[in-house]
Amino acid sequence: MGLKVFNTLAREVQDFVPRDPAGKKVGMYCCGPTVHDFAHIGNFRTFVFTDLVRRYLDFKGYEVTHVMNITDVEDKIIRRVRETNTTLKEYTHRFEAAFLEDVKALGCLEPHQRPNATEYIPQIIELIQKLMDRGSAYQANDGSVYFSIEKYQGCGCHYGQLVKLNFDEMRTGERVASDEYEKESLADFALWKARVPEDGAVFWASPWGEGRPGWHIECSAMSMALLGPSFDLHLGGEDLVFPHHEDEIAQSEGARDYPEGERFVKYWLHGAHLLVEGKKMSKSLGNFFTLRDLLDKGFTGREVRYLMLTAHYREQFNFTLDGLTGARSALARLDECVIKLQEAAGKITAVPEPTILASVEAALDDDLNVSAAWGAVFEWVRGLNKAIATGAMPSDKAAEALAAWDRIDSIFAVSKETNDDVPAEIQALVEERQAARKAKDFARSDEIRDELKAQGWFIEDTPKGPRAKRL
Ligand code: AMP
Ligand code: ZN
Repeated sequence: MGLKVFNTLAREVQDFVPRDPAGKKVGMYCCGPTVHDFAHIGNFRTFVFTDLVRRYLDFKGYEVTHVMNITDVEDKIIRRVRETNTTLKEYTHRFEAAFLEDVKALGCLEPHQRPNATEYIPQIIELIQKLMDRGSAYQANDGSVYFSIEKYQGCGCHYGQLVKLNFDEMRTGERVASDEYEKESLADFALWKARVPEDGAVFWASPWGEGRPGWHIECSAMSMALLGPSFDLHLGGEDLVFPHHEDEIAQSEGARDYPEGERFVKYWLHGAHLLVEGKKMSKSLGNFFTLRDLLDKGFTGREVRYLMLTAHYREQFNFTLDGLTGARSALARLDECVIKLQEAAGKITAVPEPTILASVEAALDDDLNVSAAWGAVFEWVRGLNKAIATGAMPSDKAAEALAAWDRIDSIFAVSKETNDDVPAEIQALVEERQAARKAKDFARSDEIRDELKAQGWFIEDTPKGPRAKRL
């Protein structure tokens, strides 16, 4: 069966058909974090959702190129740089590093490319120049360059592809300079913002004078530089639909003539927001959490990840600490079953049991219906536990089940194993033992095994080679 996804552009669930005529290659761009502070768990819901899409496409055998940018220059960042009296790089570096640690703790795969906006200034300028050349952009009296919605529409293009807009109230030439604005403030938006004293040292030279890019043009430039003028998937949280993604479409489709039937992005996927205890997160309500806050409370990245992956991406998700405790027990049930299967399987390896894989795939093909997928997994686990308890679990069946779980976990990445990072010194010992065994130095190999044991690790020989596991 094929994957179906809800495409915001079409406002309906559609078959996912990659642009690649061979149906293999998929280009996917996810709007990354604005590194003005530590990201909160709402942000991470969106990043875990994008990781699920990436992993599921991998699972289905697509050759995915996954790009996620880092927004390291925009209004909020500049304000913070000014307030903290630091340099842009110093300021953003700290939060970028924290973000990368956090997504790792959440078991998210590294994107294939992670461009920083500040490293794409030439591409941004080039894109703005194209819009100027085509008459879809103009320099205003304040020195800033704006995108002209009227000129763009005049060329037969359509502004308002992702959202319905009321053009009656729009006055020609009205402009909005800030990076974030409401649908009601429909107006020409800034592509290049002329340098003002408040920007401090944050500015670059351009054909329109010193200044800095607007937020929206950054994503258009980075995505097209790395994935080409047309690509398959663009993802983000629902708040990005307008203006950010609408403006991305306008800037990209306004800069060139697309061949018939082609456009900037084929499928737009948006994740709904996360609430905490039923309310929008806010520092004043005391319901604002970063991932670090939850780790400090003793929860783990995989518990947070699992909880986020129990809800459908298009439904608002109500995060609670009780929910997180529930996630802990659900994971314990999975861990326990996996351990028992490992005991039953011994050294036997097998091909994955196909029935459960088919159920999970059918559920996820249906616009990533994670609830149905988890329903099937836990039903299966119940059956396995019963079989184990009654002694009806031969080693080959256990090995088939384990292999199936490995495949399922390549999508969800919630198993203890996937999340147990093997420290570098332990990994070095594993490799040293392997070398000793090759050299038939069994005394040294046994010594290393004991040393690992003393540190709480053992080595399991898997089809992919020896792997360190916690005792
Ligand atoms: P930002 O760093 O503000 O650009 O946001 C990074 C990502 O988090 C974007 O895709 C946002 O749409 C998303 N986001 C922001 N708030 C929430 C929330 N409460 N729940 C889910 N996603 C969110
Ligand atoms: Zn973006």
